[in-house]
Amino acid sequence: MYKAPVEEIVFTLRHVAGLSAAIADGRLGELSDDLVEAILAEAGRFATEEIAPLAETGDRQGVVLEDAQVKTPDGWAALYRAWAEGGWNSLTASPDFGGQGLPHMLHVAAMEMWNGGSMAFAIGPTLTIGAVEALTAHGSEALKSTYLPKMVSGEWMGSMNLTEPHAGSDLGVMKTRAERRGDGSYRLFGQKIFITYGEHDFTDNIVHLVLARLPDAPAGTRGISLFLVPKFLVEADGSLEARNDVFCHSVEHKLGIRGSPTCTMIYGDGRFGGEAGAIGWLVGEENRGLACMFTMMNNARLAVGMQGVAIAEAATQKAIAYARERTQGRAPGWQGSGMSPIIEHPDVARMLLTMKALTQGARAITYACAHAVDMAHATQGEEARHWAERASLLTPVAKSFATDAGVEVASLGVQVHGGMGFIEETGAARLYRDARIAPIYEGTNGIQAIDLVTRKLPLSDGAQMRGFIAELRGIADAVRASNDPAFGDTAVRLEASLADLEAATAWLGTALVEGRQPEALAGATPYQRLFGLVLTGIYLAWGALADAGDGRKGERTALCRFAAENIIAETAALKDRVVNGAASLEAARAALG
Ligand SMILES: Cc1cc2nc3c(=O)[nH]c(=O)nc-3n(C[C@H](O)[C@H](O)[C@H](O)COP(=O)(O)OP(=O)(O)OC[C@H]3O[C@@H](n4cnc5c(N)ncnc54)[C@H](O)[C@@H]3O)c2cc1C
Repeated sequence: MYKAPVEEIVFTLRHVAGLSAAIADGRLGELSDDLVEAILAEAGRFATEEIAPLAETGDRQGVVLEDAQVKTPDGWAALYRAWAEGGWNSLTASPDFGGQGLPHMLHVAAMEMWNGGSMAFAIGPTLTIGAVEALTAHGSEALKSTYLPKMVSGEWMGSMNLTEPHAGSDLGVMKTRAERRGDGSYRLFGQKIFITYGEHDFTDNIVHLVLARLPDAPAGTRGISLFLVPKFLVEADGSLEARNDVFCHSVEHKLGIRGSPTCTMIYGDGRFGGEAGAIGWLVGEENRGLACMFTMMNNARLAVGMQGVAIAEAATQKAIAYARERTQGRAPGWQGSGMSPIIEHPDVARMLLTMKALTQGARAITYACAHAVDMAHATQGEEARHWAERASLLTPVAKSFATDAGVEVASLGVQVHGGMGFIEETGAARLYRDARIAPIYEGTNGIQAIDLVTRKLPLSDGAQMRGFIAELRGIADAVRASNDPAFGDTAVRLEASLADLEAATAWLGTALVEGRQPEALAGATPYQRLFGLVLTGIYLAWGALADAGDGRKGERTALCRFAAENIIAETAALKDRVVNGAASLEAARAALG
C-alpha cells in the first residue's frame, strides 16, 4: 500500500525547490524547517493511514445517484470530515477567514500525499481550495464574509462549473445564461457537465462557482461572468435556507477516479418549485469572469500536476515492492539458488529507474512552480513581477509534464507486474486508470502546450525564458565543476539538452514573430516535453549536488546519471520534431482521409 514519501518530499522542497533558502531569507514569515517537517509528517500520516486504505473501496463502489443525491463510497464522508477537522482545508487560506496563511509549497506537498492516498478523494478538496482562492481574490465583502469562513473550515465544499456539452477547451461558446434581478442577485439557467464533486454527501452545502453569460454580453470569452451559486441559500445568520434551483441530473461512469462524483448539473429548471432560475451572485465584474476563474484554474493546474506526481510515486512504490518479491528466470550474474527476483533483470531495473527518475523530476518541477507562486506573494515590485512570470512559465510545464509522467509511470508499473498488472487486485491497474484523466482536465495538455508556446515563452520579450535557461546552465556547470566521476556523462548530456532547449525556443520565437503560427503550434507538444525533460535532468542534478547529510547523496547522483544518460537524450529528437516536424505533418494530413 501507498506510504507517503515524507522524507523525499521534504528533501525536494528544501534542496531543489528553494524552500530552505526562502525561509533563511525571511521570505516566509514565521515558518521554520522544523514546522514544515512536522506539518508534512502529519499530512503524510493522514494520507498513509486514513486515505490510502479507502482508495480501493472507492474505486470498486463508485458513487450512486438517487433522487438527485449522490452517495459517496462507504467511509468517504467520515474520511472527509476527519480531514477537514484536521484543519487541512485551511493551510493556505487567509487568516482573515480562519485560514493558516501557509505557503503554497507546503500545500502542494501535502496535496501530493493526499492524492497518492486516493486521487478520487483528494480532487474534491482540491477544487474547494481553488474556489476559496478565487473568492478571496474577487468576491465582494458580503460574499466573502458569508461563505469563506465555512469553506475555509471545510464545513462547506466548492465546485467549479465551466464545461458544457459543446464548450470544453473553447469556453467562449458556452451558453449558460444569467439574468439580472432588481436586488443585485442573478438567476442562472443552463447545463454544466463533468462537474467534479458537483453533488455529494460530504457537506451540508456546496458552493458552486459557475461561468455564465448575461443577455447583453459580448460574444466569446469577453462575455463570460462568474457567479457564486450555493446549493442551499444562506440566511443572514449563516443558517441554511431554501434549496436553490440547481441539482445533479446524472453522474458519469468513468475509466478512473471512480470514487469521485462527476456530475451533470442543471441550473434553473424549477425542479424544487417556486420561480425558476438558480439564484446566484456575481464574483468580480460582469464579463470578467474568465479572468477571475483563472485565479482558480492556475492553482488547479498545478494541483492537477501534483496528481500526476502522486500517481507516479504510488505506482513506483508498488512496482518496486512487487519486483522484489516476484521471482522469474535467472538474471545475468544471479548467484542465488533458484529463480531471481525480477528486479535483478536489467530490463526491469530500467523500467523501475525510469519510473523513479520521472517521478522525482515531475515532483521537482511542480514544487519549483509552487516556490515561484510563493515568491511572487512574498516579494514586491520588479522581483514580484519576475516570480509571477516564472510561475506563469512553469505552470503549463508542471501540469503537462507531471500528468504525462503519471500516465507513463503508471503504465510502466502495470508492465513491471506482468499479467498481474492487468488484474485489478494488485491495484496497479487502478493507478493507470486514475492517472489517465489528469492530462485531459484543467485544460488538456495540448492546450497547455499552446499556452506555453504562444503566451509564456514571449513573457518580457523572451527575457524570462532566457534568464531561466541561464540559471539552468549554472547547474549544469556546477555538475561539471564537481569533477565527481559518479556523475558519468551527466554534464555533457545536460549541456546538450540545454542547447536543444535553447535552439527549439529560438526557432519557435522566430516562427511566431514571422507569423508562422501553424508551424509553431505543430511543435508545441514536443517542445513542452523537451522543456520538462531538461528540467528533470537539471533538478535531479541540483538534488544530487546538495548534501542533505542523510547518506543518500550517492544514490541521488546515480539516479541523476541514469536519467541523463538514458532519458534526457530524448531532447535531441524532440528538438528535431519542433524545428522540422511541421512540414511533414501538414503534408500527411491527406492520410487522415
Ligand atoms: C473526470 C472529469 C472531471 C472533470 N471535472 C471538471 C470540473 O470539475 N469542472 C469543469 O468545468 N470541467 C470538468 N471537466 C471537464 C474537462 O475540463 C474537459 O473535459 C476538458 O477541458 C476538455 O474539454 P472537452 O472534453 O470538451 O474536450 P475538447 O475541447 O473537445 O478537446 C478534444 C481534443 O481536442 C483538442 N483541442 C481542442 N481545442 C483545441 C485547440 N484549440 N488546439 C489544439 N487542440 C485542441 C484537445 O486537446 C483534445 O485533445 C472534467 C472532465 C472529466 C472527464
